[in-house]
Amino acid sequence: MIWFAGKEGGSQNSPDDWRERMVAGQLEARKINDARLLDAFRQVPRHLFCPGAELDDAYGDHPVDIGFGQTVSQPYMIAWMLQEARLKAADRVLEIGTGSGYQTALLSRLVHRVFSVECIPDLLASARARLEELGVANVEPLAGDGSVGWPERGPFDAIIYSAAAPEIPDVVKHQLAIGGRLLAPVGSRMSQSLVRIVRVDGKKLSEENLGGCVFVPLRGAYGWSD
Ligand code: SAM
Repeated sequence: MIWFAGKEGGSQNSPDDWRERMVAGQLEARKINDARLLDAFRQVPRHLFCPGAELDDAYGDHPVDIGFGQTVSQPYMIAWMLQEARLKAADRVLEIGTGSGYQTALLSRLVHRVFSVECIPDLLASARARLEELGVANVEPLAGDGSVGWPERGPFDAIIYSAAAPEIPDVVKHQLAIGGRLLAPVGSRMSQSLVRIVRVDGKKLSEENLGGCVFVPLRGAYGWSD
């Protein structure tokens, strides 16, 4: 894998410096304390996933426009979700909504294998190209409707929704392995709660509400149509 781990410039405004400030000011300051996760945020060059954005925008405390009416999510929102997913190095993870591929790149450093579904083929093509350029080899992408999950590749140790769902259908819950965690923004189109569903055993699921959030809407069979 090729990662931009070294110093990229001598000034206080190199991408490395922006990443350090993002990690300290936006993540550590808000109780993101998983060392592997923080390290992934230090390593992945977010600016390469934000086409056309200046560094201060790409590393700002907000989502960034990536075209097609979509965004790469705010760094903190991604970090919160991934920390609450309690990811382990051996995990197989389904990501619903590849977008720019930024979160996919973070996941690729944290888990064994990432399966990522995106419904806008042009976005997926750009994400694939970026990931390939960075030498990421443990991601399997799919163009299609991720609102049904990816049954052929399940069960998954974690399922991460990058878009807000009105509800989580049984067909997706069934794709969680025993002990598996599903993280999703669930609610109305305008505001949601971050929900964690855990498969306790073959029959039982537990569900927790972790707090409020706002994501772009999920499309497809189990999303919003308008
Ligand atoms: N985490 C992504 C990143 O790092 O760039 C940002 C994802 S963006 C907030 C949400 C993405 O979900 C969009 O790219 C959108 O096209 C995608 N999406 C929405 N509904 C979908 C569906 N049913 N299947 C697959 N992708 C979907």
